[in-house]
Amino acid sequence: MPVSHNPDIPAQLDRVLTEIRNSAVGCGRNPADILLVAVSKTKPLEAILQAHAAGQVHFGENKVQELVPKMEDGPDDAVWHMIGALQSNKVKYMAPRVNWIHSVPKLKTLKEIEKRAAEFNRVINVLIQINISEEDQKSGCEPEDLKAILEASRGMQHVVIRGLMGMASLEEDPELIRPQFRLLRELRDLHAKNNEGAVQLEHLSMGMSGDLDVAIQEGSTMVRVGSALFGARNTE
Ligand SMILES: *Cc1c(COP(=O)(O)O)cnc(C)c1O
Repeated sequence: MPVSHNPDIPAQLDRVLTEIRNSAVGCGRNPADILLVAVSKTKPLEAILQAHAAGQVHFGENKVQELVPKMEDGPDDAVWHMIGALQSNKVKYMAPRVNWIHSVPKLKTLKEIEKRAAEFNRVINVLIQINISEEDQKSGCEPEDLKAILEASRGMQHVVIRGLMGMASLEEDPELIRPQFRLLRELRDLHAKNNEGAVQLEHLSMGMSGDLDVAIQEGSTMVRVGSALFGARNTE
């Protein structure tokens, strides 16, 4: 999908939603089962407000220091998703407002979210990030570590583990990405058999601007789309 520096955000939103719908219908899925998270990182509040005015409600950011002011100044009804690499000591800053945290790599982080959410008497939806690309720079837990994390968090009161998140490696050929997404789905299916208490696996957060279609074919329920909506980013 082409990107530009000053995109017509409502038109781009329309195109992304159409692409999601076409992908879903093309593989026999209900488009309503796929949530678009608009990734507004590095973009000004104005871009968020434009997307919101066009009907977009879910927004994602990858840095706590950028997420917090945008949550404060953004629309009251926006639903905020933290999608980036997460240090435990930053959890406290977003705990009063964040709705979803996609990028939980380990039990220590989950325990910190449980503690901080309790202070505000909130429940935060989380996804466990799994390293599906076998690239070291893409963080997340190893698939074989997931079971222990889930077992240890079943009793949590202020966290609900709603699914898994993964980032595929940057490949030109979607058929090289497909097995990575499939692995995430198989892990979700396997562990969802033991859903109980705070473990309620359902969602798969996978697919970005460049690999939406294959992610939806492999069962994505949340796509995280930045550049196709808001234009290319200069900095990360
Ligand atoms: C930036 C980012 C995205 C969106 O990437 P695009 O290619 O711009 O759609 C999705 N997920 C994560 C974790 C990101 O950091």
